[in-house]
Amino acid sequence: LNLRLNVSGSKNELKELALTFNEMMNRIEDHYNRQKQFVSDASHELRTPIAVIQGYADMLDRWGKNDKEVLQESIDAIKNEAENMRELIDKLLFLARHDNSTFVFQKEEFSLTEMLSEIIKETQIIDSTHMISSDINQEVSLNADKIRMKQAIRIFIDNALKYTPAGGKITVSLGKEGNSIAVSIKDTGIGMTKEELEHVFDRFYRVDQSRTKDKGGHGLGLAIAKIIILGHNGKLKVRSKVGEGSEFIILLDVSTS
Ligand code: ADP
Repeated sequence: LNLRLNVSGSKNELKELALTFNEMMNRIEDHYNRQKQFVSDASHELRTPIAVIQGYADMLDRWGKNDKEVLQESIDAIKNEAENMRELIDKLLFLARHDNSTFVFQKEEFSLTEMLSEIIKETQIIDSTHMISSDINQEVSLNADKIRMKQAIRIFIDNALKYTPAGGKITVSLGKEGNSIAVSIKDTGIGMTKEELEHVFDRFYRVDQSRTKDKGGHGLGLAIAKIIILGHNGKLKVRSKVGEGSEFIILLDVSTS
């Protein structure tokens, strides 16, 4: 990776060749470093659930045979942690496949309006602690990867629920912004600072732990959502204010998505 051409003083074509080559090597080096960081962060994240499972397995071994309560607590914790780990591995696999360019979006025609209504209904069923409302008054059909698009929208809604205290309001709306279709997910939650906002789409990024502790998460959701939206030629906008709430807007060009 330290290989670089040095042909100063020679013909222009050679200089140009050296420049192109060096630029390519810089890009490869950059990619290599990001991959190294990804593997290291991923291994770090996987250590926690493994340590928890090991801890409970030890507890089972020592006391679980005679103590029914310990037995049940350990089984529940192991099941829960294994599920967390499965979710984490699914996310890591998606990111790794995207990085290797082996991931392909499976596009089909579907109604975005119907999808949003479905997601809102499902969310209202599982969450009774927030006011979840919608502002969806137009029929929009998309040519996109239905499963992945649903996954991305869910990520924004799940975050809105996670980072909004009970009693808060979440509004999902479908409208237009210029020539684009705009899906907005707005909450009245804890919000983020300007500095934090700059990193929300980074892998493994989570804001100030003291404000978000006990919320689980690995800081991968928004990185995945960004790949999905950008992979459909879409754009993302975010506005947020600490203590007031956040709004994430997905902009999609209906004709080219
Ligand atoms: P996580 O799994 O930790 O939620 P994400 O990538 O989805 O990971 O989000 C990254 C971080 O951005 C979160 O840890 C949280 O600190 C912050 N965040 C995301 N959405 C919101 C929101 N709606 N309100 C406040 N903070 C948010």
